[in-house]
Amino acid sequence: MPATKRVLVTGGSGFLGSFLCESLLESGHEVLCVDNFQTGSRENVMHLQDHPRFEVLRHDVTVPLWVEVDEIWNLACPASPIHYQTDPVQTVKTSVIGAINMLGLAKRTKSKIFQASTSEVYGDPSIHPQPEAYWGNVNPIGPRSCYDEGKRCAETLFFDYQRECRVNIRVARIFNTYGPRMSVGDGRVVSNFIVQALKGEPITLYGEGAQTRSFCYVDDLIRGFRALMDAPDGLPLPVNLGNPGEFSIRELAELVIELTGTRSQMVFQPLPRDDPRQRKPDISRARELLGWTPRTELRAGLERTIAYFESRLSQSRDRLAP
Ligand code: NAD
Ligand code: UDP
Ligand code: UDP
Repeated sequence: MPATKRVLVTGGSGFLGSFLCESLLESGHEVLCVDNFQTGSRENVMHLQDHPRFEVLRHDVTVPLWVEVDEIWNLACPASPIHYQTDPVQTVKTSVIGAINMLGLAKRTKSKIFQASTSEVYGDPSIHPQPEAYWGNVNPIGPRSCYDEGKRCAETLFFDYQRECRVNIRVARIFNTYGPRMSVGDGRVVSNFIVQALKGEPITLYGEGAQTRSFCYVDDLIRGFRALMDAPDGLPLPVNLGNPGEFSIRELAELVIELTGTRSQMVFQPLPRDDPRQRKPDISRARELLGWTPRTELRAGLERTIAYFESRLSQSRDRLAP
């Protein structure tokens, strides 16, 4: 394998994908970012556009792609519930047909391929924290199913291509990750709360805010991605990647209120159907096999994310100013 690899990143102009493209360029690789811009934006990769080893291709992964590459990172898929539920059939197609196409490409080009799977494969978990051996508790016919079952089927395809076609795979089960470059209208909890707080609007807690999540800062996650891809072949898969610090949604709201100094009040809205009650990764496998552990505390990660949204919102205010 040459030191400089030709690397494909699907979903490369999304939140996580843009940080991954940046990290791969920093390591000296050629990066082809493939995206249909459903939830990602050119702005996320604008600062890379003049880079001599960077290229963006508008393309939908549900359509076959014939390119010559050495390594594939499959991140294409809307990740926020409001976005993946807008066109649920497209969400399933992206996960399932997208995986088939990228695995077919990996098979032909003999590329190593990474799948951005999710803690959602555990559904509303009855085991806490969740180790990789847990098979999950997923509703196959609910509003979240297009995402959860799409991602589960993609995992199935990855392991079948590994067994049947000897494709070299890496599967990461990613737990809630946040940071700069989430879009203002992303709809996930961290960006919603920060944007609401900065605009002085009510902070919308769904249900009583007693449900928990574990929030990982984006830099930590990307370090985990790279460690997993570079780990020796034959390691046990999949691998959970996330920050085991567990917070109730109410605690998150309180922290955002404290850090922004907002006067916004919490308001309570109905809990969406099938919303998982608790989520916390067991990261023993990542610790032991990759020597990986997250370093950024929620408070520090939120401070950086708040600074990002402050500058985003002030830019859009400047644009609107007469
Ligand atoms: P995101 O919505 O910001 O990024 C997804 C990207 O994929 C976007 O740029 C979007 O335009 C693109 N995309 C969607 N469908 C496509 C298609 N059919 N063809 C080509 N491009 C397509 O979300 P993100 O948070 O950056 O998530 C990236 C990946 O990581 C997703 O696969 C997601 O399921 C997974 N993941 C993320 C988290 C998290 O907390 N951020 C957690 C678990 C899993
Ligand atoms: N594929 C692709 N790019 C490639 C090779 C394959 O998009 O470079 C697609 C191909 O069109 C097919 C899918 O990947 O739909 C699965 O390919 P595979 O070779 O596994 O299956 P087959 O073509 O035999 O159905
Ligand atoms: N949530 C909330 N208010 C919001 C957005 C989300 O209370 O404005 C809750 C949501 O119900 C869920 C948690 O925060 O319990 C995390 O939601 P998110 O959409 O970020 O991710 P996921 O549910 O996929 O973990």
